[in-house]
Amino acid sequence: MAQCPVCGNTVDEEAARATTGFTAHGASEMDPAKGTRQFHDGTWYYFDSLECRSKFLANPGNYVG
Ligand SMILES: [Zn+2]
Repeated sequence: MAQCPVCGNTVDEEAARATTGFTAHGASEMDPAKGTRQFHDGTWYYFDSLECRSKFLANPGNYVG
């Protein structure tokens, strides 16, 4: 299990990975209810929600390092 770097909840990496895909137009496709992930500074980070990912992207330095 991965841990959400924003709120500390556990995240099912398999579910987050499985729901991340790409459409024919290159847009990412995912189920916001099953978590998500973001590649940052050489590492995949897993989040339990889009809200947490948005917070992370707004200020990654708060949650990394
Ligand atoms: Zn979270």
